[in-house]
Amino acid sequence: MILVLNSGSSSLKYRLVNSGEADGPQRRGLVERIGEPDGVPDHAAALRAAADDLDLATAPLRAVGHRVVHGGTRFRAPTVVDDAVCAAIAELAPLAPLHNPANLTGIEVARRLRPDVPHVAVFDTAFHATLPPPAATYALDAGLAAEHGIRRYGFHGTSHRYVAGRAAALLGRPLAELNLIVLHLGNGASATAVRGGRSVETSMGFTPLEGLVMGTRPGDLDPGILTYLMRAGLDAATLDGLLQRDSGMAGLCGVNDMRAVEAARAGGDAAATLAFDVYIHRLRKYVGAYHAVLGRLDAVVFTAGVGENSASVRAAALDGLGMWGIEVDPARNAAGGGRGGARLVSPNGARVAVCVVPTDEELAIAEETAQLLR
Ligand code: ADP
Repeated sequence: MILVLNSGSSSLKYRLVNSGEADGPQRRGLVERIGEPDGVPDHAAALRAAADDLDLATAPLRAVGHRVVHGGTRFRAPTVVDDAVCAAIAELAPLAPLHNPANLTGIEVARRLRPDVPHVAVFDTAFHATLPPPAATYALDAGLAAEHGIRRYGFHGTSHRYVAGRAAALLGRPLAELNLIVLHLGNGASATAVRGGRSVETSMGFTPLEGLVMGTRPGDLDPGILTYLMRAGLDAATLDGLLQRDSGMAGLCGVNDMRAVEAARAGGDAAATLAFDVYIHRLRKYVGAYHAVLGRLDAVVFTAGVGENSASVRAAALDGLGMWGIEVDPARNAAGGGRGGARLVSPNGARVAVCVVPTDEELAIAEETAQLLR
């Protein structure tokens, strides 16, 4: 069995996966409000709660797989954790101040609890290590960018990789032959152009703020807005709050959950209607841009909370793209997924397949961990 730990700043998600296979018994849980007055005091306590729940001290574990958000330029693949790897993850903290320290705390506590098994770090950025230089490079002063490690790293990589593989299986074709646009639309959202199983362009950048409109993040902005607001007196912490919490759908119409946005829009709410339209417009721009990056396109793949569940987002994002062979079949699109399986929502014979593929980041981390140790 492989234990997967996703240790966030205030929550710990855990799951026991049977030998990296989807069908085995999978026990899972979530400890929330770490460090808050009504929650557990710290990550050590959270992991003790998970350990009690799973009988971890005696569980027949093969390994522990850890989600780590930022691998910088150093970590291009899952990596067995030792002290040097921990130190390197700590050094990357300035690139992901909300995530890497929490990921590392989870690793350290888990290593003390189960020093007898290998611990593997699986990085959100690793899948995007293949971005070609023209896609990874910002047109900034080259010396300054090099000094600060400023480049496009990309995120959600574990999900993009997993979903691309499952889409190929659904289509019954080798991943190596396929050009895909994968749209991971959850609370955070990102698009990736995948050529032959490799990420060649992705919408999140140096941080997970760039690209698509998200629940509480704005995605693409004119950077001049930030310097303008700084001169108007907003400091870095205030801008961080604006960009992380108070923008995106929440900033536009007051709610971040797409279900609430769609309900308000259906009731005629003008702000929710504009928010939905802004979200869709951005998504369409990325589909068009990534089609151009890829040239031939074989499939558009929707995943994560919004991508898997919102038929109206899928339909609106791809509406009117028939000239590119992209079509959505209304009945297939509206039909439910039937226990969360991958499915086709384009009409038979369409030049470009449109698919809905449920993501499963914990299972993907277990698979990558098992594969590394094999
Ligand atoms: P996270 O990015 O936190 O992992 P998920 O991938 O689980 O998030 O996506 C969560 C989001 O999915 C919710 O905030 C909500 O906007 C959206 N969502 C979930 N179910 C539906 C639905 N039936 N229709 C539209 N949106 C949905």
